Amino acid sequence: MIRGTTRVAAVIGWPVEHSRSPQMFEAAFADRAIDAVMIPIGVPPEAFAQVVGALRTMRALGASVTLPHKLAAAALCDELSPAAREIGAVNCLHIDGERLVGHNTDAGGFVDALVAAGGDPAGKRCLILGAGGAARAVAYGLRQASAGAIDVLARAPEKITWIQARPWHTIELRDCFARAELVVDATPIGLSDSAAAAIDELPLDALPASAWVATLVYHRRPVLLERAAARGHAIADGRGMLVHQGARAFAIWTGVAPPIEAMQRALDLALRGT
Ligand code: NAP
Repeated sequence: MIRGTTRVAAVIGWPVEHSRSPQMFEAAFADRAIDAVMIPIGVPPEAFAQVVGALRTMRALGASVTLPHKLAAAALCDELSPAAREIGAVNCLHIDGERLVGHNTDAGGFVDALVAAGGDPAGKRCLILGAGGAARAVAYGLRQASAGAIDVLARAPEKITWIQARPWHTIELRDCFARAELVVDATPIGLSDSAAAAIDELPLDALPASAWVATLVYHRRPVLLERAAARGHAIADGRGMLVHQGARAFAIWTGVAPPIEAMQRALDLALRGT
């Protein structure tokens, strides 16, 4: 129940209607009897700073930040966590008294989810498909988790400045798949049926049988994972990452251990039928 004392957290995006964070956090706050609520705020880039300023004035707990605001969020902060500084993007704003502190919980959330699923990346040779913001967070998380060497494949590697990416060509793909112990699809190709051609290019037949295949998509089961599972690979979809990045935000905002199972149940329920 919302009262006069209820604290506010927000999820900010543009658009934001697709977000399932409000349901996840409603369950988390209820489970830990915390008097707080999460509201969705859809705001275009030009008004983002104004909204964050208002949340500071209101002494909100903070905000989950999603596309397209993750870079702008970093630029507004008084302080950045080591992960946010290294990745250059913030997906979790914490209003800590007078200070606005930026975190990147996507990176740790990805690894937490993988570890929870039994796929600890420590020592594993990794292949990341795509070199956008999510790929950069995943690469940071994998490095922090002591993964082995990381290959990154990109369509325009010459434009990638944060890592030496390799070109998305048939020979490179096959070479990288053949030695990967963990493949992470950090592109949006799993999101649309029209990108099926890009998935057909991926040489799953070259992948060692024990390799894991992960994607970051959470609202549908990507074709890549279906194909990988059919070949006997262990798989992880983006639901775990979404839950665990949220769990880390919950801990930052409240100082309380996150109720991961309750958040996972709420997300599964919110995604049912999508
Ligand atoms: P982004 O910054 O736009 O990067 C997308 C990357 O994918 C770019 O390197 C892009 O290459 C590449 N790409 C796009 N279409 C491609 C295709 N057909 N073939 C090969 N490469 C292609 O996006 P992002 O923020 O990194 O997000 C990537 C995905 O992660 C999205 O689906 C997003 O929803 C998901 N995500 C999930 C979570 C979670 O909690 N589960 C968190 C963050 C992100 P170009 O530069 O050449 O276009």
